[in-house]
Amino acid sequence: MPDCTACGSGAGERKSPMEHAHASRDDTAIDDGKTPATHATGIYRARACTLHQMGRSHPESPARLFAIDDQLIASGLDQALVHHDAPLADADDLLRVHPRDYLDHLEAKAPVAGYVSLDADTLMGPQTMDAVRYAAGAAVAATDAVFAGELKNAFCAIRPPGHHAGIASAMGFCFVNNVAVAARRALDVHGLERVAIVDFDVHHGNGTEEIFAGDARVLMVGLFQHPFYPYSGSPPAAANMINVPLPAGADGEAVRAAVQRQWLPALEAFKPQMIFISAGFDAHREDDLGQMRLVEADYVWLTREIQAVAARHAKGRIVSCLEGGYNLSALGRSVVAHVRTLAEV
Ligand SMILES: [Zn+2]
Repeated sequence: MPDCTACGSGAGERKSPMEHAHASRDDTAIDDGKTPATHATGIYRARACTLHQMGRSHPESPARLFAIDDQLIASGLDQALVHHDAPLADADDLLRVHPRDYLDHLEAKAPVAGYVSLDADTLMGPQTMDAVRYAAGAAVAATDAVFAGELKNAFCAIRPPGHHAGIASAMGFCFVNNVAVAARRALDVHGLERVAIVDFDVHHGNGTEEIFAGDARVLMVGLFQHPFYPYSGSPPAAANMINVPLPAGADGEAVRAAVQRQWLPALEAFKPQMIFISAGFDAHREDDLGQMRLVEADYVWLTREIQAVAARHAKGRIVSCLEGGYNLSALGRSVVAHVRTLAEV
């Protein structure tokens, strides 16, 4: 089977994503109805993402990525995934979302030793900027590979998370908005006209909302506990934000009803050509950073619904990036549930 259904290039003559420029034209021109070139799900990791620390007792810790790896290996799912080491993000990729003076500000703040606080719970250590660059680089590389048809979809096991990072602000454990960087690459480099961002973290993705509010090329659908940190999202900042605030204690039944009523009609009408997921797992009932009551089966259901939209409109293209999730056991189990569903194994 050729690697690319659009140009027929095979594994032996693999082209870089950028050489697949023909795929940036109107989707309808290249949708020949064939099955995707590969059925593989990719996972992107970077050692640098395990070295960023914000203090010994901080919940956003390297142990989160180790817990995910443990569960992926123990479940056997790891063997079914295509493993990629994330590259560093290019400056151009970051600059599509964040202004240069903000990125320079982060660089200037980075300490040689110890920690520097950017807000009450967002700290930089000596390894932070490397992790930031690799995390964004993972999202970019996953986007390129999925767009090129080298992967069916991809999960980025990365930290720091990104969805609270605004255009020029670090907050809520986030420095650079990984999903926004990936979405802008899909739009501005690969030429897509419509991308959707799905955010099911327990906290409102205020940074992503700030970046894309009013951008007609982007539909963001989110659900989050409200009122709760960061105390935003209700009402939404613009018409392209479908925000679902839910009270503390909301369970899978409430989430499913809201998704069916509010997310799915909007996604169907928008017809996204690629879907990005801000995959936070802190709405799990075992996670103490939120008070919602989701379980693994709810993440499976959410993932299947997103996949169904992607299959209808986006050739199945999904890039999912880790956001929150702080109960280590629940996080690992939930990521397995999510990625197993993406991989359809
Ligand atoms: Zn969160």
